[in-house]
Amino acid sequence: MSRRYLLEQVDDVSVVQIYADGFAALPVSQKLLAWHLYLAALAGRDIYYDQRYAHNLELRAALEGILTHARGLPTHVVDEVRRYTKLFWINSGPHNGVTARKQLLRLTTEEWVRAVTAAGDASAPLRTRDGETPTQLALRLSPVVFDPAVDPILTLKTPGEGRDILESSANNLYVGVSMRDLDGFAERFALNSRLVKTGDGLVEEVCRIGGRYDHEIRRIVHHLENALAHAPEPTAAALRALIRFYRTGDDADRVAYDIAWVRDDESPVDTVNGFIEVYLDPRGAKGAWEGLVSYVNHERTLRIQTIAAHAQWFEDHTPWAPIYRKPEVTGVSARAIDIVIETGDSGPITPVGINLPNDQAVRERYGSKSVSLANVNDAYERSMPEGLRTEFSWDQAEAERTRVWGALSRDLATELHEVIGHGSGRMASGISQSPPELLREQYSALEEARSDLVALYFLPSAKLVELDLLPADAHAEIVQTEYEQYTRGALMQLRRVREGSQLEEDHMRNRQLIVGWLRRHTTAIEVRRREGKTYFTMVDADAFHAGVGTLLTEVQRIKSEGDYDAARRLIEEYGVDFDPSLRDEVVERVDRLRLPSYSAFVMPRLEPRRGPDGSIVDVDVSYPCDLEAQMLEYSAHARA
Ligand SMILES: [Zn+2]
Repeated sequence: MSRRYLLEQVDDVSVVQIYADGFAALPVSQKLLAWHLYLAALAGRDIYYDQRYAHNLELRAALEGILTHARGLPTHVVDEVRRYTKLFWINSGPHNGVTARKQLLRLTTEEWVRAVTAAGDASAPLRTRDGETPTQLALRLSPVVFDPAVDPILTLKTPGEGRDILESSANNLYVGVSMRDLDGFAERFALNSRLVKTGDGLVEEVCRIGGRYDHEIRRIVHHLENALAHAPEPTAAALRALIRFYRTGDDADRVAYDIAWVRDDESPVDTVNGFIEVYLDPRGAKGAWEGLVSYVNHERTLRIQTIAAHAQWFEDHTPWAPIYRKPEVTGVSARAIDIVIETGDSGPITPVGINLPNDQAVRERYGSKSVSLANVNDAYERSMPEGLRTEFSWDQAEAERTRVWGALSRDLATELHEVIGHGSGRMASGISQSPPELLREQYSALEEARSDLVALYFLPSAKLVELDLLPADAHAEIVQTEYEQYTRGALMQLRRVREGSQLEEDHMRNRQLIVGWLRRHTTAIEVRRREGKTYFTMVDADAFHAGVGTLLTEVQRIKSEGDYDAARRLIEEYGVDFDPSLRDEVVERVDRLRLPSYSAFVMPRLEPRRGPDGSIVDVDVSYPCDLEAQMLEYSAHARA
């Protein structure tokens, strides 16, 4: 039976099923551990919805209420609510996860009010405020779903002269706070709090038991405690440390958890559960909640461990100044995992690789865990429509190269990015502050650029053939394929930003920065036009490689020295602005072929099997192949 990967396309998003083939073969104890961690991942899902946008949970309840309860609505109303709700689920709110811009509901206010009212009349579990009727709720939410001027952008790092990055961002990490208010304010819970301005100054609402998200965090802790019974050491030690952090919220306990989590680098089943990435915050300080459960993919892990085992060789052969090289690379723990579930900041839109913890001090002393998400990458490749490979390739040969080698070259580049890239380099002596503190809102894009550049720099290295990571007779072709693919990507990614003329997302900025810099400073890339179509064509792999080395040397210097001004100049010059007419052309081309801009994933589903006495004896995995069914099931978990 052939498997379904591509399930449907909603506007410009493809919805793809992820498979967890190795799960059934895990020992029962590991499956039970995964089950309780799965419930813990579901228990925190609503934290992320709320962090993204203050209206998210009440809006979600209204939308889901219409789909599940309202009867007798006109077909076009139901269809439009379904389209909008699918986009809402995919992006965990009305703001597009890639472009950060708010998406609008295409109904009249009257149709919207009637639909919400009908859901309320049928006893849908709406989140009305005290004394509020469903009709009043619908009217209150109208500006949110219809008015493009209300909370237009989720996270805005470059709002323009005189405007404040916190006030210009629609997320719910700050309430009434501007950057000015932070001057002289001693923040105790930078990562895990919401900051609120009150009459008495700034208040940190700490995310912990007894604090913000008390209800959700209690449930997470309950499931983590159940997981403990099935967790071997040192996994159990890491879970205990996490539980403690959820109780106190103290940064010292977060550090202890990070260390315990890094030490647990052998166990097959693992989880990420907490306030992790800081992309949602224009300041890059507050962590967005995510839950992820995974097990090791042994076959793919072998490749990555080969790279990791030679991390010192790569460090010694980086192009940057020797004073910025680590004399001893420690603790690069690299594995390929298959994910069982991702919620919050990591799903339904997921990263393809993860390198944690983010705490630079912990990383330098204890190392980090680096994983590539094998079954995500696999599902992504298998669901990719052919047109995405051919439309932006200059000729047949380029399209054919990417068809044959594109998946392998991208996997290898991702592995190098995660395993060697993020773990490499060190700070200049005498600098005690961390790179995120020094480089602030420029840090994430610069660090992603640095890791991409490391991967691109080492791809032509004979070391990779020596390590048997790619075939010698196709090495040059594989390098060419990845350089072409990377270059095309800078043009193709414009399809994701349908409005405005600036990039906000850090990974997009990083790619545009690298390709834009190479266009200006090398002969590696030609911008060609044919029959009204533009192509970014990589024409000289040697020039590309040399340029990558030069740029990487400078990017590492900027990070090592914490040179904020240089980081800002570089990113603002190359990584932010794009030509909107070129974007319009790209959008027109992909829309004509109905090609997706990005992918969202339907997770595997776990279900416990119970014995005669009601105890769980095994855990089954299945594949819903239905975004709506899964999202409704997840939301029902939060109400149970
Ligand atoms: Zn990265």
